[in-house]
Amino acid sequence: MPEEHWMWRCAILKVLSSFMPELPEVETVARGLRQAILGRRILSVRLGKTDFIDDPAALEQHLPGRQIEAVERYGKFILLRLSAVNRETRVAANGDAAQASLLVHLGMTGQIAPSPAGRALEKHTHVCILLDDGRELRYTDARRFGRIAYLTKALLAEELTGFGTDPLEVSEIEFANRICGRRARIKALLLDQSVLRGIGNIYADESLWKAKIHPARLGAKLSRKQAETLRRVLRHILQKAIVLRGSSISDFLDATGEPGEYQRHHRAYGREGKSCCRCKTRIRRAMVAGRSSYFCPTCQHSPRGFVALPLLRKNGKKNKRTEASTGSGKRRKQRNRREEMENHL
Ligand SMILES: [Zn+2]
Repeated sequence: MPEEHWMWRCAILKVLSSFMPELPEVETVARGLRQAILGRRILSVRLGKTDFIDDPAALEQHLPGRQIEAVERYGKFILLRLSAVNRETRVAANGDAAQASLLVHLGMTGQIAPSPAGRALEKHTHVCILLDDGRELRYTDARRFGRIAYLTKALLAEELTGFGTDPLEVSEIEFANRICGRRARIKALLLDQSVLRGIGNIYADESLWKAKIHPARLGAKLSRKQAETLRRVLRHILQKAIVLRGSSISDFLDATGEPGEYQRHHRAYGREGKSCCRCKTRIRRAMVAGRSSYFCPTCQHSPRGFVALPLLRKNGKKNKRTEASTGSGKRRKQRNRREEMENHL
């Protein structure tokens, strides 16, 4: 494998060690794939477990013979744009020879990267797409919360309807219109993919902290000026995170490749009990829109009557009241599982 490709593969895997890929992480993976597999022709497809694939037979039937013409990001989706079937090299026996796309959603633990076809499969590899240069594009997913779908032009258009604007492209007026008229909490609006596409828990909390807006504030209560500040800092944070190749929370493959580094710049997310970088007040956590939300109670004024969760004790353990309220054993496991499921949406 050329060294450049290996570097990209490492970078792709590194980024995906994060808890849940959001716009910057997915953009980083898409850029890596663009460097590594653009223009390659697909020769064949092998599948393992298929419960996260929309129509497994469609992949096996329709992918071979097609060239990867573009790699794009749409919200948190990666789209491989596939050429029409080349009739000189392969006769389309399945009646679908027009341009199509392969949609990939990485869920929580999905990884997609090229690998030499002869290399042993990593555990949980469920899709192997043989390319015309002797490599395989492999999809690995331990928890299988991801999704892969072969979509014709019409099905893709149907799939992508209902999504909001990309936060890197949204205009001042459109952003204000989408936020300021809504009687939902701003955190919920940022996470709502029909309002803006691609934002998840990390970048919602980081942008709200930077804009000094409490996550539980209602969209309708924000001034136009606050909405514009939020739009500006959100875009800036996403762009910076893309430059730093996203946020990687665990730390494997750091000996090779370029790691995602934005986690070093987190100011709110995951910092419960630590000092606010602006005012030194301890960062608090609260459930907003069903998700853990991190904020500074001094910089981000809470709506009247809003209560944060009790702070962690200094040894990092929750206090008794918190422990009692969170339940134990099976119930806690069930709740954690539910939170994980919510986090990957
Ligand atoms: Zn503060």
